[in-house]
Amino acid sequence: MLPFHFLAVISILLLFPLVLCAEDYYKILGVDKSASDRDIKRAYRTLSKKYHPDKNPGDESAKQKFVDLAEAYEVLSTSSTRKIYDQYGHEGLEQQKRGGRGGGGGGDPFDLFSRFFGGGGHFGHGGGHRKGPDMEVKLQLPLRDFYVGRDVEFNIEKQHICETCEGSGSADGTVETCSKCGGRGLVIQKHMIAPGMYQQMQSHCDKCGGKGKSIKKPCPICHGQRVVRKSASQSASIEPGMAKGTRLTFENEADESPDWVAGDLIVILDEEAPELGANDEERTDGTFFRRKGKDLFWKEVLSLREAWMGEWTRNITHLDGHVVQLSRKRGEVVQPHAVETVRGQGMPIYHEGHLHEQHDGEEHGDLLVEYIVVLPDQMESGMEKDFHALWQKWRRKNGVDLLKDSGRPVPPETDYKDEL
Ligand SMILES: [Zn+2]
Ligand SMILES: [Zn+2]
Repeated sequence: MLPFHFLAVISILLLFPLVLCAEDYYKILGVDKSASDRDIKRAYRTLSKKYHPDKNPGDESAKQKFVDLAEAYEVLSTSSTRKIYDQYGHEGLEQQKRGGRGGGGGGDPFDLFSRFFGGGGHFGHGGGHRKGPDMEVKLQLPLRDFYVGRDVEFNIEKQHICETCEGSGSADGTVETCSKCGGRGLVIQKHMIAPGMYQQMQSHCDKCGGKGKSIKKPCPICHGQRVVRKSASQSASIEPGMAKGTRLTFENEADESPDWVAGDLIVILDEEAPELGANDEERTDGTFFRRKGKDLFWKEVLSLREAWMGEWTRNITHLDGHVVQLSRKRGEVVQPHAVETVRGQGMPIYHEGHLHEQHDGEEHGDLLVEYIVVLPDQMESGMEKDFHALWQKWRRKNGVDLLKDSGRPVPPETDYKDEL
């Protein structure tokens, strides 16, 4: 009787704090129930770095969060435990664990972290872990993305810690210390250089190749290399107005290795050559704007009549599809190569961290429109005669003497012709 009671009390005591503390695993990772494996992985990658105790020294709540994240990830990243959790919640997992079939949670959160980032689960400082090399990639984007802003997802090829063997390189998880060098990777050889005189030479152990460890059964996926090269998806937020050449840093997203903490991935934004796309939003005039800093440039073609007589309208579709209207009334002349500044129709002005957003009022640069005037190169003979007569009539009357105006010496026998 008594032992039974005793056990019951114990199990209630054990269960009680568990039920109280158990926060929803999806909530911990900040994803919803429909999240894909990739979403879950991404959430863990981001949050585990943020709450890593190395980055939050002395912060107990961050440490707890780091542990919780690992537990949530272990459960939700395994389809069998995720299924149980979705159906029966925390109690379901507890029962499964008691049933002896293992299950999520309980692992060392630093082990899990090192499976993602290498380096024994810690960042570079203090622990003596080296940081691996940084990696740079160029991301080509159309001008529209710099104007409107966009969340882009792209793939990069990089070295990953082998998931199958979790970076051990061994198929069965056993790694043996080399018997020849005792794990040091180095052996000392004695060379006799003269009778009775020896020189000690240190060299790489030939049995283990200097690794200090040997693997009997290499992992079939990485062939004992502990790492594999594969493509990884990465996402980046392009904010409106970001400059060409902007460097976005993704901490610890470069090549991974069990021997180091992954370096940083640096994404350099580059502007792609303009091209008419297939979708409507890619078929705007703005596609062919050119950008210089916060300003945009555009060339607009006018006919001789329009440039001289005025009375015309142009609707230019901007990068996001809105229309900028240019026009002149009758009698308004536009000189060839004249540049019109359309205020506020340039690039959005990006302020790092949006600190000055409401500050100086200037939110956009300008659009500078250069006018190109094209003259007709063919005329019907009747039309040519009419125009010729018209010119003759009016240049005698209202023309200006270009030669006199130029200030150059006038040759003696010049037939003065006044030009319009
Ligand atoms: Zn492997
Ligand atoms: Zn060895």
